[in-house]
Amino acid sequence: MADRIQLLPEHVANQIAAGEVVQRPASVVKELMENAIDAGADQIQLVVRDGGKALVQVVDNGAGMSPADARLSIQRHATSKIREAEDLFRIHTKGFRGEALASIAAIARLELQTRPGEADLGTHLKVSGGKELSVEETVAPKGTSISVKNLFFNIPARRNFLKSPRVEFRHVLDEFQRIALAHPEVGFSLHHDEAELYQLPASNLRKRIGHLFGNRMQDRLVPVEEDTQVVRVSGFVCKPEFARKSRGEQFFFVNSRFVKSSYLHHAVLNAFEGLLRPETVPGYFLFLEVPPESIDINIHPTKTEIKFEDEKTVYAILRSAIKHSLGQFSIRPVLDFDSDPNLQTPYSFRERDAVTPGVTVDRDFNPFAEPGSPSGRTGPVGKPVARGWEVLYEGLQEGGPAAREGLEWTVESDARDGTLFPGEALQDLGGIASFQIDRKYILTPVKSGLLLIDQHRAHQRVLYEQFLKSLSSGQPVSQALLFPLRLEFGPGEMQVLEGLREPMAAMGFRFGKQEGKSLEVVGLPAMIPESEAESVVDGLIAGWQRQEGEIGFSTADRMAKMLSRALAIPPGKVLDAPSRQALIHDLFACTETRRSPFDKIIHTSLTVEELEKKLH
Ligand code: ADP
Ligand code: MG
Repeated sequence: MADRIQLLPEHVANQIAAGEVVQRPASVVKELMENAIDAGADQIQLVVRDGGKALVQVVDNGAGMSPADARLSIQRHATSKIREAEDLFRIHTKGFRGEALASIAAIARLELQTRPGEADLGTHLKVSGGKELSVEETVAPKGTSISVKNLFFNIPARRNFLKSPRVEFRHVLDEFQRIALAHPEVGFSLHHDEAELYQLPASNLRKRIGHLFGNRMQDRLVPVEEDTQVVRVSGFVCKPEFARKSRGEQFFFVNSRFVKSSYLHHAVLNAFEGLLRPETVPGYFLFLEVPPESIDINIHPTKTEIKFEDEKTVYAILRSAIKHSLGQFSIRPVLDFDSDPNLQTPYSFRERDAVTPGVTVDRDFNPFAEPGSPSGRTGPVGKPVARGWEVLYEGLQEGGPAAREGLEWTVESDARDGTLFPGEALQDLGGIASFQIDRKYILTPVKSGLLLIDQHRAHQRVLYEQFLKSLSSGQPVSQALLFPLRLEFGPGEMQVLEGLREPMAAMGFRFGKQEGKSLEVVGLPAMIPESEAESVVDGLIAGWQRQEGEIGFSTADRMAKMLSRALAIPPGKVLDAPSRQALIHDLFACTETRRSPFDKIIHTSLTVEELEKKLH
């Protein structure tokens, strides 16, 4: 039998290796930017076209390469960063495998221009599909510029696998943000197609976060610091009241390298326990430094997963560091103050005089207690300002829906029903009797038995239909704001917002002046209370960016769904009798009453027969 085993030609081997390193344009962005950081650059420009499918270019002012190094750099296993296998355990640079450039060069058209500081002339190298096309001397600025065009041009199967430019760009942006966060001391810029999206000056982490995610983010940050022998923790977490329903700004860096870790994420959630609204995730920007030999970053080719030698200890330290910070900045519910944490930051309490407990007590609402647990309601209260949704029920005792126009509704807490168990008291306000169970469900007797309604889903349905109705009327009811809101957005968000402006206008949002990254909101759909404006617009953009709820029939439908979710009464919220009654009333005025906009069951019933069977 003839010999059949052959060594793969170098360029085929490189193409195969490329599959591991390069999945999409964002992988190229990561490798090129990391090389620039490793080269000691303090200015890095990223230029991207067509979501990176047409062009990814990174320009740096780092060390540059000699002509020989430039030619070697695109060879496989060519690296200046390790010499022997043991070096692997002492890695301080981003790269070390020496395969990134070779892989990229194998599957794209690559041009490299580079000049080390001490040389007069630079090198200009062209490579296509792994083949060197030309090397020339050239006049070039100090540093390196690498451009990668037509990714996967020679592997159509892979090229077809790429998503739309919009989706690919989202990945590019993620990668850019991670690297920019890990290196606030380096200046970065990002251009996509013709637009300049970021121009980030070298600065500190707090400012960098502000530049990336909008200045309002800066005021939401709580610093975290802890130094132990095992790990040094630094960075920021976001105050719990700004936690979002969608995953957004969650970043871990280990030795300045972005990593994903559900284990560490869990440690953070654990530290926030009891402080978050249901289903929300806090933002964080956390940096862990550990001795390089105590981690294994080599378990995944793209190096975003990590293994610690002493995982449990890292978990415990991280958790306690965050808890400590939240406590230090008065964010733990040491004292349970009155109102909804969505409306007031804990900082405002520090300026307030102590209130003698026991004068008036808000028995109804403890944002920190587990839903359903009666514990921990001890705090003194003032006048809680109602959350937005309560507007819906304003004036219901006096008159019907006509009285619902107002914006804010102040509840006198001692005007509540005054029973020991307000949540469970049977109310009969000349209408339907109802109880609230577990602060989640409304129980109401009906002719045939008992009806149990999920308050959150019911309200979603009500809001959803209201939004759709106002959309289809073509004349959305918009309320002008007395004081226009000025919202600051990150450039990525600004892009999303551009695409959303039209459907938002159709819903009743009114926009005013736009200056750079800030936009004025001058009017809101009537259903949205002013106090919720910022968080609603925020949630909308975050959700859109993360492509949540793509199940909608149209942009408008998707938006109505997301708004209904953002504004619906949360589970855990105590509803007083008029509110319960109004909700039941509104729900049964809907065209569909059984399913939420997200196709969840809204209510169930227990018939008299079933009751009788149970009590048999
Ligand atoms: P690695 O980063 O793992 O060493 P790469 O294939 O990414 O492998 O790069 C190969 C080599 O090319 C690097 O080790 C480095 O010496 C050189 N190099 C790559 N990019 C740059 C750059 N922007 N500036 C200076 N040198 C670079
Ligand atoms: Mg590299």
